[in-house]
Amino acid sequence: MKKLNNENLKLGVQKKGRLTEETIDFLQSAGLEFESYGQRLFSTCRNFPLEIIYVRDDDIPDYVESGTIDLGIVGQNLINETKPKVKKLLNLRYGFCSLCLAVSKESTLKSAKDLSNKTIATSYPNSAKYFFEKQNLKVSIVKINGSVEITPILGVSSAIIDLVSTGSTIALNDLRIIEKLYDSEAVLLANPTSTEDAKKKKIINKLLTRFKGVLSAKNYKYVLMNAKEEILPKIKKTIPGLKSPTVSPLATPGWISIQSVIKEDVFWETIEKLKKLGASGILVLPVEKLIK
Ligand code: ATP
Ligand code: ZN
Repeated sequence: MKKLNNENLKLGVQKKGRLTEETIDFLQSAGLEFESYGQRLFSTCRNFPLEIIYVRDDDIPDYVESGTIDLGIVGQNLINETKPKVKKLLNLRYGFCSLCLAVSKESTLKSAKDLSNKTIATSYPNSAKYFFEKQNLKVSIVKINGSVEITPILGVSSAIIDLVSTGSTIALNDLRIIEKLYDSEAVLLANPTSTEDAKKKKIINKLLTRFKGVLSAKNYKYVLMNAKEEILPKIKKTIPGLKSPTVSPLATPGWISIQSVIKEDVFWETIEKLKKLGASGILVLPVEKLIK
């Protein structure tokens, strides 16, 4: 049997499910090299002191809390539900979904208030309990482990509380969302003792730098453009880049090439402004990593 290298840091990821593929992609884009997945129980990184352990997502918060593993990646929803004693280090900007209250399409129920004394089925009983208690509503909550969406059809519940991302499962099952409890995304968790341990802390920080590099790269686009030299001051003002753009002369006298990065959220408006100013041949490239 292959053995874990216990000298290495251990990171738990979902073995098989909605977070698996994006988590593996994320780790690889952070430059971690490992034989990806398959039927493995764990992978050892070739270029970083890290063991990647594949487990059910529900077990990850407990393993991290107990220190069986140092780090874990799960949906924020699991943290909200079980409130483990772990440290959240980073939001990972994938695995987006929301925990929602839904009723059958034909139902006349319009909001949480209409559910007084009714039965709600969910795999998230604590989140549900907290949500109704906050509004002083008395409801009966039944915990269901899977296929919660079938319960209104079976007549077991008047409403469900379930995770929704695209809404296609909701639509497919003739359900309608009436309220949102919270939003969720994948997060990186750590055992609090591991983050205090001098040796582990150093490796965790290195990993965090890599992860943050991937995350900031996602927020930026790399742009190259040509322009007349005289409009450079205006272009500089328009691009809210990291620092001043790189400028190099072109073969045509009076013309320059400008390189910079633009933040995703102001990307289109910036491009339009640049075009108006007279920039041409604007080339946009994705940023692989951005270390600030
Ligand atoms: P496991 O077998 O590991 O226990 P699971 O069935 O509990 O898997 P998945 O359905 O694979 O879990 O979901 C894993 C996580 O993916 C969720 O906890 C949530 O954070 C996220 N997620 C993103 N979109 C959705 C969605 N539409 N429905 C459910 N979870 C979603
Ligand atoms: Zn699960």
